[in-house]
Amino acid sequence: MTVTRFAPSPTGHIHIGNLRTALFNWLIARKAGGTFILRIDDTDPERSKEEYVDAIKEDLEWLGLTWDRVERQSMRLDRYAEAADKLRDIERFYEAWETPTELDLKRKKQLNMGKPPVYDRAALSLSEDEKTKLRDDRGAGVWRFKLNHARIEWPDGILGDISIDAASVSDPVLIRQDGQVLYTLASVVDDTEMGVTHVVRGSDHVTNTATQIQIMEALGQTAPTFAHHSLLTGPQGEALSKRLGTLALRDLRAAGLEPMAILSLMARLGSSDPVELRTTHQELLDGFELTHFGAAPTKFDEEDLKPLTARVVQSLDANDVAEELTASGVPDAAQSAYWLAVRGNVETRSEAGKWWPVLQGQATPIVADEDRDFVVTALDMLGEPPYSAETWSTWTNAVKEATGRKGKGLFMPLRLAVTGHHRGPEMADVMPLLAKKPTL
Ligand code: GLU
Repeated sequence: MTVTRFAPSPTGHIHIGNLRTALFNWLIARKAGGTFILRIDDTDPERSKEEYVDAIKEDLEWLGLTWDRVERQSMRLDRYAEAADKLRDIERFYEAWETPTELDLKRKKQLNMGKPPVYDRAALSLSEDEKTKLRDDRGAGVWRFKLNHARIEWPDGILGDISIDAASVSDPVLIRQDGQVLYTLASVVDDTEMGVTHVVRGSDHVTNTATQIQIMEALGQTAPTFAHHSLLTGPQGEALSKRLGTLALRDLRAAGLEPMAILSLMARLGSSDPVELRTTHQELLDGFELTHFGAAPTKFDEEDLKPLTARVVQSLDANDVAEELTASGVPDAAQSAYWLAVRGNVETRSEAGKWWPVLQGQATPIVADEDRDFVVTALDMLGEPPYSAETWSTWTNAVKEATGRKGKGLFMPLRLAVTGHHRGPEMADVMPLLAKKPTL
């Protein structure tokens, strides 16, 4: 049984980078008919906010990435304490009292000597007396997991075979001085106890994975299959980390971007498969292969979401946008004909009603000085509405005869005069929808 999880920390809104992680895990679970867990990593009581938990759920729901159950780390603290005790029992856990400043100094010295800045395990050689004294002076220490200095290897689902020398990694702190359990331990306990079979996360977690594999082994558990996707960059390959704050899913939603447009792009971007608009979640599943994704940073350009969004919107039926049309004043009876005529010229759902005022005679005509006489003559030749599907061709043919104009010089000034836009729906479709005869 395949079990995956998306494990956001509720310390902010989720952005396009988080979505990539969520989507991959969701796709893997759904494709295998397995379970997708939404795990809220809220062990940090100061930074975790309930409003972000709600917002994360809302964003995932908007995208249709449904979960089978929710787990909260804050409800499982006793499980983590138990695991910590076990690590103490098998002597893979030790207390250390260095202050951040002391650690910083050690790191600087190591770097000066050309050595990697790895924690020197000074706390391991403290005598019982020294520990008692430190505890008296400084209170509780942090708890570090004692890595076994061997190579840590795993077949990564995206990066291929990984091998990391544990000696090049600091013994990770799993419990803070104030007793707070850190994510590294909490995640290990959850992943193993919840039967998680596949963990896909960003390549910034590779070192975490190495240490987590050893913690799992120390606890007598088997590690899930790990895969690390590349990180997103901007279109020029620039780091996206600073801009991710502006790429929150709720911002994309507010900008009118469509869920299926976002999912279609993100389910394929960075893989060898082409990005094509998929209209259902099932279609996303069908072509998804994790092994098709590459290790290189993935360029993301939010502009790419616009044409995909336009295609989603343009394929909608009038009833799909009934709410927007009604809000723009399009009467029920007119919605179907209106939408058929204009949908090819609408980019977002919120623009669905934007041509209605134009058709109601509220367009501001655009008339170039040199076209004024021509347009006046042409409008004189147009009768009163209602117009039909033939009106445009009949009218423009007559105007062509009378004035000798043809092609763009004939059509464009008339389009500008009638609609006030350089581009728009087919004029043959516009004419029957006009409520009034156009005037200047
Ligand atoms: N809460 C962690 C994060 O957001 C989860 C990482 C993981 O997938 O294990 O980075």
